[in-house]
Amino acid sequence: MSADLSELYQQVILDHNRRPRNRGKLPTANRVAHGDNPTCGDQCNVYLRLDGDRIAEISFDGSGCAISQASASLMTTQLKGKSPIEAVKLYDEFHRIVTTGETSDEISDLAAFAGVHTFPARIKCATLGWHAALNALKGNPVDATTETHKD
Ligand code: ZN
Repeated sequence: MSADLSELYQQVILDHNRRPRNRGKLPTANRVAHGDNPTCGDQCNVYLRLDGDRIAEISFDGSGCAISQASASLMTTQLKGKSPIEAVKLYDEFHRIVTTGETSDEISDLAAFAGVHTFPARIKCATLGWHAALNALKGNPVDATTETHKD
């Protein structure tokens, strides 16, 4: 790993990569979306249960580079309990961080990805899980489980 890359792989990213949070299918999900980043080979599925105006539960699975998987893991921890509008605001903040490297003091975990802005090809890796989550929120409810939903 080059010196530049080791700077990119900050502790928070390493930690999420080693111990991904909320990884695996969510049996109770009522929204699912798939994200694909062919330039790097990253894949990410996001499963979430929208309960009224809240993301009650959220998980992801997939495969790909450390940045994409760590970012998806962090994303699930940030979006759980949020409303779709809050999720979009958080994504806007995260996108600003990874494209400009500018961070605000309040959101420290998202700031771990600030180094990504010096590797433009990696921005898509970092935002993949977030795109999938926002698409899941925008999309129609889908049956992601073996249960039958009648409404
Ligand atoms: Zn990647």
